[in-house]
Amino acid sequence: MYIVLLGPPGAGKGTQAQRIAAATGLLHISTGDMFREHVKNNTELGQLANQYMSRGELVPDEITIRMLLERISRDDAQAGAMFDGFPRNLAQAIALDQALASRGARVDRALLITVSDEELVNRLSGRWICRQCGRLYHQQNDPPQKPGICDTCGGQLYQRDDDKPEVVRERLQKQKPPADLIQHYRQAGVLREIDGQRPLDEVTQALLEAIK
Ligand code: AMP
Repeated sequence: MYIVLLGPPGAGKGTQAQRIAAATGLLHISTGDMFREHVKNNTELGQLANQYMSRGELVPDEITIRMLLERISRDDAQAGAMFDGFPRNLAQAIALDQALASRGARVDRALLITVSDEELVNRLSGRWICRQCGRLYHQQNDPPQKPGICDTCGGQLYQRDDDKPEVVRERLQKQKPPADLIQHYRQAGVLREIDGQRPLDEVTQALLEAIK
């Protein structure tokens, strides 16, 4: 089964993807995490991607699609996967469709998580991430037991550069799922809209229902 999670930055794609992966065993593929890993390791791709990421812009399709196609060609992605943060536009969706079609698969569900702009700014500026295991927290909605320390692995929590308020506003403007992308999945009959403004557990339940 192949699933894509759609929604603006801060809709909860990353958090929900981690929960769905834990509940279903589906492989979680996040292009944002992959880029951040490259930035951390200071690879050539990381240096290139960071020029866009630090400004809240999308990394060009050519780079992103190549990285994603390489990822899904590996053995662990043959039975299915959940994509978080990909596709961000129609060109990326078409590239994914073609790659899956070539192995007799398709996107089975596109889950669109909806949240108001006001709530998104609040969420993004309160977000913290574990440097060691990548677990996500939120200052108000989902805080760690000890401030600054990960409950799961004891790692240090940090705030993403692109979660700073100025960059957050940029990202919201430039990175909402475009109408033609949503329409693409609606036409294919696989789109499900989920109200992301409810408590975390309720959203997880609704998402799990939608992929049953
Ligand atoms: P995310 O963790 O999904 O919010 O992604 C963080 C940043 O990585 C984004 O602001 C983009 O600069 C870049 N990025 C992640 N996924 C994509 C994608 N599918 N296409 C282009 N850029 C991406």
